[in-house]
Amino acid sequence: MDTLDANELDGNAAAGLLASVFVLDATRARIVCAACGHDAALAEQRAFALELGAVLRCPNCADITVRIASTRHGVFIDMRGAQVVHFV
Ligand SMILES: [Zn+2]
Repeated sequence: MDTLDANELDGNAAAGLLASVFVLDATRARIVCAACGHDAALAEQRAFALELGAVLRCPNCADITVRIASTRHGVFIDMRGAQVVHFV
């Protein structure tokens, strides 16, 4: 997929919207677990600190909701375990 269709935009079109999300206070985020649907504040997740970052687990089913790592190549966030992350 090298070219965009007439009704498609590249990722830059979402940059402004994403910037408004990623400058928000992350502690205000609510995370809906992809495994069980439990909706909980980020602060309610169970955090397991690793050398390079952290793993957050759902307080209801213990599945991983978020992985975050800070390396010399940048910060990586894996949110596959979160069905939805919303800021309130
Ligand atoms: Zn869960």
